[in-house]
Amino acid sequence: MYIKDASLLIAAMNRFLAYIQDEDKRAMMKKLIDAAFYIEGKSKISSEAAKGIYGEILKGSTSQFEKYAACAFSYYMQYGLKLEERQERKVEFFDIGNIVHTALEIYTKRLLKSGKKWQDLDEEQQKQNAEQCIEEAVEGYKNGLLHDTKRDEYMIIRLKKLMNRTVWAITEQMKLGKFDTVTSELSFDVVENDDNVMHLIGKVDRIDIMKENDKSYVKIIDYKTGKKQLSLSDMYYGLQMQLVIYLEAAKNHAEKEAGRKMIIPAGVFYYNIDDPLLEGKIDPDKLPDNILKQLRMEGLVNEDDPVLPSIDSNFLTESGELPVKTKSIVAPFETDKDGNLKKNSATVQTKQFEDIIRYTRKNISRMSGEIMNGTTEVNPYKKADSTRKTACDYCAYKDVCRFDVRIPGNVYRSLKKLSDDDVLNLICPKEDEE
Ligand code: SF4
Repeated sequence: MYIKDASLLIAAMNRFLAYIQDEDKRAMMKKLIDAAFYIEGKSKISSEAAKGIYGEILKGSTSQFEKYAACAFSYYMQYGLKLEERQERKVEFFDIGNIVHTALEIYTKRLLKSGKKWQDLDEEQQKQNAEQCIEEAVEGYKNGLLHDTKRDEYMIIRLKKLMNRTVWAITEQMKLGKFDTVTSELSFDVVENDDNVMHLIGKVDRIDIMKENDKSYVKIIDYKTGKKQLSLSDMYYGLQMQLVIYLEAAKNHAEKEAGRKMIIPAGVFYYNIDDPLLEGKIDPDKLPDNILKQLRMEGLVNEDDPVLPSIDSNFLTESGELPVKTKSIVAPFETDKDGNLKKNSATVQTKQFEDIIRYTRKNISRMSGEIMNGTTEVNPYKKADSTRKTACDYCAYKDVCRFDVRIPGNVYRSLKKLSDDDVLNLICPKEDEE
């Protein structure tokens, strides 16, 4: 540092020495010096303290472990110390999602109870049932939160419209496939017991099964509000493990139900709850397909026979080959002019699905070991891609963690975006490695 006027430096040093020698000011000076030369270290609690906080057995959902994968300190704040933001009594965006979610659960359970399939109800019956389910869901939501004002009344009308669209779209998707819904809101509690004991808990929104000969094909669907996509790169880093774990729970459930039948993973999907607006002039005959295209599920599909045509009958051909230049309106796959799956199709083979499940289970087991060892490190990720997304973007603990890249020792964990092929190469052992 170049100081133009040495007298200023001398004056500052004299002031500093005077403060240090002053009994009353010494403590404050020490704090200032510590702050100026503070270096963030790896924070940790003892494994005894971790046991005191989490108990002998760590119990958590996949989204809790995703939080840990994003930043260990934010996990510790939320699930260790249980620090929560103050809840306000107003209807938020996520309330809309929660209500439609509950209404869908009621709708599906009613279908299952009456032994009906989605496609057994015509559009009028769908609408009638969907609206009743919204009324029931609203009634039970946060002690009738949505009954106070004219705005709430309008909100209920919007909710019914959204629910009608959702039930219609799911019914159309089911009509195009050969799967049937067998369970709604399946709760699971898996006990993991290698080196550390833990309970992995969760609830699968919907499980669909197709039985063929001695095999059962299983797919799971998670309802989301907003646009959620599955990224294998995020799955690799532990930021998106939910669908994979849900698939495993669904497979276990199907195994118990189906006895000795072979259970094959068919796909994991997000259904993004929405009522899309279509722009421009659209031929009325093409309107339903255009809406379905907008509501196409995201996720990962098993490309091995006979899954694709069983999910979308537009892929069923007499020759048994895939059709040319066809894009599914149900799930994320499409073919090129030669009938090959296009690169942007989100598909894997059966064995790769199994490897993904195995890898994710291992990842969660590693994290639970670290948590029980007392890791509470401030270690947020930052994506090294065009999004530059970080774990801190919407974190409620910004004021507590003191993470600031200007302070030495505070650095983001940089996560390089991996292609699907990179991820599969990393986690799927080659035949001779097994
Ligand atoms: S703000 Fe960032 S560093 Fe701080 S707790 Fe949240 S995720 Fe971690």
